[in-house]
Amino acid sequence: MRIEILGVGFDNITMEQAVAEGVRLINTPGAHYAVTPNPEIVEVCRTDPEAMEAVRNADLVLADGIGIIYGAKLLGTPLKGRVTGIGFAQGLMGEMAQNGKSLFLLGAKPGVAEKAADKLRAAYPGLQIAGTRDGYFQEDGPVLEEIRASGADVAFVCLGAPKQEKWMRKNGAASGARLLVGLGGCLDVFSGEVQRAPEIFQRLGLEWFYRLVKNPSRIGRMMKLPLFLLHTAGERRP
Ligand code: UDP
Repeated sequence: MRIEILGVGFDNITMEQAVAEGVRLINTPGAHYAVTPNPEIVEVCRTDPEAMEAVRNADLVLADGIGIIYGAKLLGTPLKGRVTGIGFAQGLMGEMAQNGKSLFLLGAKPGVAEKAADKLRAAYPGLQIAGTRDGYFQEDGPVLEEIRASGADVAFVCLGAPKQEKWMRKNGAASGARLLVGLGGCLDVFSGEVQRAPEIFQRLGLEWFYRLVKNPSRIGRMMKLPLFLLHTAGERRP
C-alpha cells in the first residue's frame, strides 16, 4: 500500500520488507527501479512533472528522511518508519553477497566509484562488483552499453536528484540490470570521501542537521524542508 504525500506515493514498509522486496525484484525478469525521495525531492516533483512521473512510476518508493515521516503523520496516515537509501543499499548488498549477485556503481566524481568498489568488496565478501563509472558523462549510450556488457544484476545510480530518477525511468530497461536504485550521494559515503553523521544524529532524525553544519552551503536546499511541511499541513485531510 502506498501513502500519498503531495502527490508522491510512498511504500508503507519497514527496512526489512524493503530489502526483501528488492531481492524479489532482482529475481523477477524485466527492469525495475527504486527511488528514495526526501522532502527536497517531493518539493522538486511538485514543480517538475517529469521528475514526478519518474518517482511515481518506480517499483519501490522508500521514505528517506525524517521529514517524510513527519509529513505522513501530519496527514493522519503514518508510515511504518524511515527507510534510508543508504540503509536499503547496505541491506541489499548483504543479500546480494550471499547470493553471488553483481553490482554496477554509477555516479559521483571520477575515481569515487572505484574507491567505493574497493571498500564494498572488503565490507561484503562475495559481492561481485561488475563495473564502475563516474557520473559526469554526456551521452547515455556508451554508459548503458558498459552496464549491459558488465552483466550486472543491480546498478546503484548516484547522479543526484532528480537527474537519477529521470535517468532510471528513461534508461532502466536498456541497462540490462534487473534493479536500479537511485542513491544520491551514497557513493561519496561508501568511498569514505564523505562521513555519514554519527549514529546518535541518525537515531534522533537529525542527520540533515549534521550535514548542514558540515556543509553550510546546503542551506538553500534545506529550506525546502519547512516548505514541504507547510505544504503538507495545507493538504491535511479533515
Ligand atoms: N553527481 C553526478 N553527476 C552529476 C551531478 C551529480 O554523478 O551530473 C553526483 C555528485 O558527484 C554526488 C551525487 O551525484 O556524488 C549527489 O550528491 P548529493 O549529496 O547532492 O545527493 P543527495 O543524496 O543529497 O540527493
